[in-house]
Amino acid sequence: MPRPKQPQQYYDDIKDKFRSARNLRLGYRPPGTDQFTSEFSGDLAKYAVDPYAEDVPDRAPITDEVEVLFIGGGFSALLTSARLRERGIERVRIVERGSDVGGTWYWNRYPGAACDVVSYDYLPLLDELDYVPVNHYSRGPEIFAHCQAIAHQYNLYELAVFNTTVTETRWDETDQLWHVKTDRGDVMRAQFVICANGTLAKPKLSAITGMTTFSGHAFHTSRWDYDYTGQNLEHLKDKVVGIIGTGASAVQIVPELAKTAKAVYVFQRTPSSIDIRDDWPTDPNWARKLEPGWQNKRRSKVLAAVENTLEKRAAKGAVSPEEKLKKQENANIDYMMRIHKRIDEIVEDPRTADALKPWYMFMCKRPCFHNEYLPSFNLPNVHLVDTQGQGITEISPKGPVFEGREYDLDLLVYATGFEVQQTGIYNDIVGEDGVNLQDKYKDGIRTLLGIHTAGFPNLFIMGGYQASFQFNLTDMLQTQGDHIAECIDHVRSKGYHTLDVTDAAEAWWVQQVIEHRGKTNRSEECTPGYYNFEGNEQRRQDGNYNGGFRQYFESQGQVRENMAENFHLASRKPSSSLEKE
Ligand code: NDP
Repeated sequence: MPRPKQPQQYYDDIKDKFRSARNLRLGYRPPGTDQFTSEFSGDLAKYAVDPYAEDVPDRAPITDEVEVLFIGGGFSALLTSARLRERGIERVRIVERGSDVGGTWYWNRYPGAACDVVSYDYLPLLDELDYVPVNHYSRGPEIFAHCQAIAHQYNLYELAVFNTTVTETRWDETDQLWHVKTDRGDVMRAQFVICANGTLAKPKLSAITGMTTFSGHAFHTSRWDYDYTGQNLEHLKDKVVGIIGTGASAVQIVPELAKTAKAVYVFQRTPSSIDIRDDWPTDPNWARKLEPGWQNKRRSKVLAAVENTLEKRAAKGAVSPEEKLKKQENANIDYMMRIHKRIDEIVEDPRTADALKPWYMFMCKRPCFHNEYLPSFNLPNVHLVDTQGQGITEISPKGPVFEGREYDLDLLVYATGFEVQQTGIYNDIVGEDGVNLQDKYKDGIRTLLGIHTAGFPNLFIMGGYQASFQFNLTDMLQTQGDHIAECIDHVRSKGYHTLDVTDAAEAWWVQQVIEHRGKTNRSEECTPGYYNFEGNEQRRQDGNYNGGFRQYFESQGQVRENMAENFHLASRKPSSSLEKE
């Protein structure tokens, strides 16, 4: 359908509305991330308990040595392990807080969990496992099972250590190894450590007055209690359920609750944008014709795509960058107005429909795709409690309180998201000369490619800041895994023991990150969310590299072409224990 031509005033008025919605939202609650808590101790300790771990057996502390140790057992570790195995590395250990591999897909087992990145691109190592996903978009259990299959294929269970949280990762000068301490009394040694702890791994709760007084049952979406709800939510038939939050997790959960619970109250602060989820079962004829290496071919296309950045397009045409930006913004607004129109078409009650309309630019918040979320609000048992930017600020023993009404609940689900990646969650990372990584980062994050940081030899970071951002995170993690495996292989095959980035290479990359950030003020103009640090001011280097995915990939290659220039490569000093053995 041709897009209606609207006068510029129409777009400017909508932008004004976006601005007011943002200001309204910022006026409430403590600013930034202070409104949340991830410290689950005391009365909040129950929110961190792993409901999926069965009887964790006692075991003796581990004090052995491996070549490569991963902190975390999700996609990062699985992808990179495959590459390490291909290079003949044998002693590879995953240390994982959960009781299995899978990371996100281990923890997020809530009803309706699925991924809205196309499965043929999202699931790692499909060529290697000769597996074709069953649907265009995979459901959570399939992805989790695929993670387990990878771990079996690459023999990763043998040395893996589960139900174990790394608490300290310290570089030992004498050994010239990392000493990795855990909450189970282990002191494992490793030549290389890879921080593979995920980007959104630590659940957070909105810190709400009175939350610990709630007398009903409560849990976070990443700790779904099926003992309480029943595997098919059948125990909720006579239960009143509340859910706080309307992000991507809640959007998948609400339709499932709506099907079974006696009543569902959805406590909304800012609505998500909800578009169609165009899903279908994989066509067996298509799958049969796939030739070996088909996933890698798809991936190469993503890497080959030249990003048509604003600057490049502006350079080609006679139109100024400002005009280009305006055009881009107007197209974005057109899209958001189509999202609004779809809500009006689906949601029968006009007041509910209005409340579900997001007033911000597309991609200010993580976009959602679901066909059943909006229709859920037409069901008589589903009620939207629109807090209009304020959020729930009080919980009584009965349940959330808003505008004087107390919502009497049996179950309260916190769909309040996750702390954004900090390298070394739960874990103190201490490099050469006893320098703590957090202290090094105090004046700003400093890395090469988001992967290496000077003074922390043989340590690699995956999925952290200063790396590129991809909607399909697997693409990004795959390039990082390939790069890390190449680096480790280089060290080993050339007879070195350590690799540490030079200060100059690190400074170069920090400058790259700074130069590519802040090209537009989009992020600052956005309604608060984890994409823009909840509206907090942020140093320019404390974020992702915005120079484009292809450029990021090419930079990795350039770095590896000049290993001797970018890294201090050293043999093991004679004082080290291995040398003596
Ligand atoms: P989010 O951080 O995206 O959402 C948290 C929600 O809680 C927001 O709606 C937030 O509102 C709301 N909230 C916080 N405090 C309050 C309060 N006091 N009262 C009312 N509401 C409150 O977390 P999710 O777990 O939903 O998603 C995290 C990420 O995980 C996604 O962005 C996505 O990257 C990934 N994911 C992907 C999925 C997929 O592939 N489909 C599915 C699920 C997750 P506000 O917006 O106002 O801050």
